[in-house]
Amino acid sequence: KFITFEGSDGSGKTSVLQEIVKLMQSQNNTDFILTREPGGNKISEEIRNVILDKSNQAMDARTEALLYAAARRQHLVETILPALAANQVVLCDRFVDSSLAYQGAGRDLGMQEVYEMNLFATDGLQPDLTIYFDLEPEVGLARIKGHRQDEVNRLDEESLHFYQKVHDAYVQLADQEQARIVVVDASQPFADVVADVVAILKAKSIL
Ligand code: C5P
Ligand code: MG
Repeated sequence: KFITFEGSDGSGKTSVLQEIVKLMQSQNNTDFILTREPGGNKISEEIRNVILDKSNQAMDARTEALLYAAARRQHLVETILPALAANQVVLCDRFVDSSLAYQGAGRDLGMQEVYEMNLFATDGLQPDLTIYFDLEPEVGLARIKGHRQDEVNRLDEESLHFYQKVHDAYVQLADQEQARIVVVDASQPFADVVADVVAILKAKSIL
């Protein structure tokens, strides 16, 4: 099973994933991997560094989308596909939906265009389940400004308007793909968000 976790900045998905991993370990469940794009492989990390390099101010939005898709491809081939072939559960922090939201909507490239471009990278592989952490962009930004100083500069550059577009895109995707995407209210207290995710994973026999 291929499970992805999606949501905008500050939605808490990374912290919740750590709790899920602890729970699986306490159940002696070792038949899973936790991964995130770019996935820690050399090629994808190098691509990611090009994307995040602040001196590359001139990066074109399509270039950025292509680089994310290239890093995604390598992570898929090196990490996700081998794990799925070994019948492991793959828990992945971000996948194609992030590009639809950030590059497609946030950077105005068009969600359909970015989807089609990513088909080449993924060969059409879709997650079996996607858990979307829904949070108003204002709340997400406030959370990050509270405790992630290193990201403040970047967030100031990317305006609230950008995050509103990202949020709207996620909401639209969740609405269109109700069979795949389950929405969690990420504005709840952390323990409640974890409990909701646990319940979803139990219902799908992952936990
Ligand atoms: O996964 P994480 O929250 O650490 O992602 C860090 C940032 O990378 C995101 O907030 C977003 O600004 C950027 N990103 C992006 N496009 C993607 C994935 C991530 O712009 N497809
Ligand atoms: Mg994160």
